[in-house]
Amino acid sequence: MKTDRSTNSRYGRVALVGAGPGDPELITLKGARLLREAEVVIYDNLVDERLLDLAAPDAERVFVGKMTSMHTLPQEEISTLLVSRALAGKFVVRLKGGDPFVFARGGEEMAALLAAGIAVEIVPGVTAAMGAAASFGFPLTHRDLAQSCVFVTGHLQDNSVDLNWPALAQTNQTIVIYMGITGLETISAGLQAAGLAGDTPAALIYRATWPAEKIYPCSLATLPETAHKYAVKPPALIVIGQVLTLISAGT
Ligand code: SAH
Repeated sequence: MKTDRSTNSRYGRVALVGAGPGDPELITLKGARLLREAEVVIYDNLVDERLLDLAAPDAERVFVGKMTSMHTLPQEEISTLLVSRALAGKFVVRLKGGDPFVFARGGEEMAALLAAGIAVEIVPGVTAAMGAAASFGFPLTHRDLAQSCVFVTGHLQDNSVDLNWPALAQTNQTIVIYMGITGLETISAGLQAAGLAGDTPAALIYRATWPAEKIYPCSLATLPETAHKYAVKPPALIVIGQVLTLISAGT
């Protein structure tokens, strides 16, 4: 769908801006500029407070997340808020962790805005998988080790995990699982049952690019016990694939 940049200028406009994975320097120049111009900033978890300082002192700041869980306000309420501020003629920046179109419900927000006749601009961000790869020094693809890389969500709305195990269980592929910590047992067992070796390198990566970032290297088989042992909590990624062997090679 083409986003509409020419819609009725009597209304405000909205930019869905990727904040990057954590380190505030990883926002794009365009994202930073739009934040400075914003009259309203709507943000949630996983956005460094220092980014909010870029906005004008009198810009309205609205937090729509909860720190206790990874769940935000009901999506409809967020969309309603975006629409109402824009209809009031404001320039709204909707700041989202990582990239707004990667497991961030940016598509739903964009649809709600376009349906209300409001111009939407999308500014990409560095998604968590890319931040983690850069921070810990492993490539997501590699000529010899991974010809493909898949980003999947390990969390469904009903809290179950239902992934296409045979499609994922490929050698020479890097798997990055977002929101998968609560489904680790199922993920580890599902991939092994579909034929991926239990000793395939794996890692749990907590808060990549934040000061508290941590990596817990393990194997596909030991993912659940590793998460348990170190009490790994969200936000964390699960990475599986031979590219992880390059971490020590580079140090
Ligand atoms: N739009 C975001 C993803 C939001 S979904 C992006 O593009 O990165 C939220 C999930 O992303 C978290 O549960 C976690 O799995 C992952 N995540 C986000 N930031 C992270 C970080 N800095 N380190 C590790 N995982 C992160």
